[in-house]
Amino acid sequence: MTSEPPAGTVVDDLVALSRTLGEPARQLAILAEGNTSVRLDGDGPSGRMLVKASGTWLARLGPRDLVELRLASLLALLEDGRTGDEEVTRTFTEATVTRDAPAPRPSVEALLHAVCLAETPARVVAHTHPVAVNGLLCSVSADLLGVGALFPDQIVVLGRHVLVVPYVDPGLALARHVRGLVRDFRTRHGTAPRVLFLRNHGIFALGASSDEALQITEMAVKVATVLQAAAVTGGAVFLTDAQADRIDSRPDEHHRRLALAARKQEKVP
Ligand SMILES: [Zn+2]
Repeated sequence: MTSEPPAGTVVDDLVALSRTLGEPARQLAILAEGNTSVRLDGDGPSGRMLVKASGTWLARLGPRDLVELRLASLLALLEDGRTGDEEVTRTFTEATVTRDAPAPRPSVEALLHAVCLAETPARVVAHTHPVAVNGLLCSVSADLLGVGALFPDQIVVLGRHVLVVPYVDPGLALARHVRGLVRDFRTRHGTAPRVLFLRNHGIFALGASSDEALQITEMAVKVATVLQAAAVTGGAVFLTDAQADRIDSRPDEHHRRLALAARKQEKVP
């Protein structure tokens, strides 16, 4: 079975997002931390994705630092109960689409990217370890991130609810655990999460585009920063459920979501 190579615009878009996320001033990732992915085709468990290769730096990412993987091969590993690192390595090899030259090894977090792309409508996934967010995720107050909404724009960008994930060993175990949590989230809330907060680890922003993945990342950082400021000044006061539901359903807030989404269509590469 053959498949078209990734379009240059898709590759350029992911490279640009990765380098933006890696800008030192943003404090989202240093060295080889973090990774990004984009769905190339298909929906659900079919199709392919591009994901950052292991050991590469977001800040310096180039097209050769991306690996093309078949989602179905990765997701099959989650199904069959195998658990060893050797199986993961073998599956990465089987799942890799090799074209001209030997492909680099994908990040160990590629499995979680596959879950995010298969279990939600997201087309672009941005995983980072933001200093501001990890300050909370590595504290006794991490669960505050999942308690509720602090301000209206949080709901517009991150959604009415977010998903806070307990610490699980990165790789296969984490991918399996998150898959279950995302399915449960969709059952409870009738929609997929747009951001995952992973305790003692970082965030996954699930966007319809690279612009949206960046917007979600920026808003997650803002929420964490505001929560920490509120803690210093006596403690956070969350919007009530009625207030938050109202924002989530208002026509003008719906319009703002569409406007934010439309901005990416006008972007000049
Ligand atoms: Zn990570």
